[in-house]
Amino acid sequence: MMRTHLTSALETALIGSTVELCGWVAKRRDHGGVVFIDLRDAGGVVQVVVDPSKVVGVDPHLIRSEFVLRVVGVVKDRPEGTIKSDTANGAIEVAVDSVEILAACDALPIPVDEEVAADESLRLKYRYLDLRGRRLQGNLRLRARVNHLLRQAFDEREFIEVETPLLIASTPEGARDFVVPSRLTPGSFYALPQSPQLFKQLLMVGGLDRYFQIARCLRDEDPRADRQFEFTQLDMEMSFVDSDDVMDLVGEIVASVIRDVTQESADNPGRMTWADAMATYGTEKPDLRFDLPISNVTSVFSATEFRAFQADSVGALRIPESGELTRARLDSLIERAQSLGAPGLVWIRVREGSLIDSPVAKFLSEEEKSALLTKTNAQPGDLILLAAGSLAMTSEVLGVIRKEFCVVTKDLGLHTIWVTDFPLFEGLDDKGNPISSHHPFTAPHPDDLDLFMHAEGEDLLSVRSQAYDLVVNGWELGSGSVRIHSREIQERVFSLLGISPELAHARFGFLLEAFRYGAPPHAGFAFGIDRLVALLAGEDNIREVIAFPKTQSGADPLTNAPSLLEGSQLKSLGLSLAAKKKESRS
Ligand code: ASP
Repeated sequence: MMRTHLTSALETALIGSTVELCGWVAKRRDHGGVVFIDLRDAGGVVQVVVDPSKVVGVDPHLIRSEFVLRVVGVVKDRPEGTIKSDTANGAIEVAVDSVEILAACDALPIPVDEEVAADESLRLKYRYLDLRGRRLQGNLRLRARVNHLLRQAFDEREFIEVETPLLIASTPEGARDFVVPSRLTPGSFYALPQSPQLFKQLLMVGGLDRYFQIARCLRDEDPRADRQFEFTQLDMEMSFVDSDDVMDLVGEIVASVIRDVTQESADNPGRMTWADAMATYGTEKPDLRFDLPISNVTSVFSATEFRAFQADSVGALRIPESGELTRARLDSLIERAQSLGAPGLVWIRVREGSLIDSPVAKFLSEEEKSALLTKTNAQPGDLILLAAGSLAMTSEVLGVIRKEFCVVTKDLGLHTIWVTDFPLFEGLDDKGNPISSHHPFTAPHPDDLDLFMHAEGEDLLSVRSQAYDLVVNGWELGSGSVRIHSREIQERVFSLLGISPELAHARFGFLLEAFRYGAPPHAGFAFGIDRLVALLAGEDNIREVIAFPKTQSGADPLTNAPSLLEGSQLKSLGLSLAAKKKESRS
């Protein structure tokens, strides 16, 4: 070992002892005499004091920021008046006897460990410098801790960690595949896994019973704050269980990780059906740190004379103590609603004595006004916003506006909720075939099985599935489902999706075949570790919890990926490029 201590191991009990430390020059104060250096290592920082008249080794005036040093010195009390009681090692310093420069450092392209973040692409180009800062060090340590806790939790529950292959045939998760050309079979391609979905199902057919993996998944989708091309999932699957068993087990593990990391209480996630989430919060990813529910007030206006409310659905959002919003703000809310497809948005200010102030007040009967106030539980000083039209539209519009009134502060903590009973299909494509809401291996809801087997077209959209999502603070942390384990049902899903028996056989024949040889009922789940760690770290972008992430355009400025291939490499893969862009050639 080149050192005796990490700076985090220094303490006043060591005063008088000689220590050997290695680290980087975080800060340096050199006025020509004694040089004060904040030496940073993986544990933290300590002030080292180098007196040129006493030190051996090098001329301390030559030392610059981010030089790598090894120092030997004696731990001392800091002189009165220079003690920093609010910082670690603020009461001590190390009086240096000898210094060795292990590595010099050129002028820095980005500042290290500064509050003001450097330009994003520079941060990524010099990621190794950015990694030296407390923010990323903390995030990566947190990530390692979360991985450790998850491994431990699944291991304790007798799950077996299995690695599934990276070079595979495509697994449909609704995104584009990244593909890898095969050299030995020119013209053929592997896909990189969008998830280990099919393999974990095969592991269940293989009798593994309980599987988990910290799995890398790759999806060719446009990157954004909560999405990178490659991301890490905690992936799991169990046999002989139903959806409640999976939700109970995963919910318990996630809550225990949150408790461990935050040292605060965290309940196991509650449950809410997809239909309720949509009706009450206008989204399948409700952020329940705020209780601002949408009320369905259609019945209040069932016999209304007011044309605008003679609609399939009228939704109301009561915003407490916001009755005094300015007209300009109200107008901007109306514009926002219109941009989302609503014909308009009606506002009502609630006054004392059940009176209201609204441009539409004169069109509403006394009964309607009083029923509305009762149904929304409105109090004087509140604002009520109403949208009328289809249920889907009013919920969406009020759901978006609801979020504008949810003021996020970090102290609200993490709120977890299971959203269950998703529709099996999320719409019809232009050929009239339904589109899977999750992946095509999701089992239909047992109560809707008959409908699933016989319905066609639009009617299929009311078939519920046994899929469940875990939502944390409005982010979809992960999703899972009870799987289809019957060949007949799986074949019907493929045929409804417009996948011909030949194509189904070519792409998923192995799965359909496996189902012939005794497939146990099984269910599973996967959640994003990047997202969980970002939530725990209070980061808005998952890039901050990934050691080497890509930019918004999917590039890696550090290694220059993606890059062009040599002609010979293309040739050995049996590939030639149809068209090269001018810029890429240059
Ligand atoms: N394979 C799914 C996904 O990656 C998760 C699951 O259904 O277990 O989203």
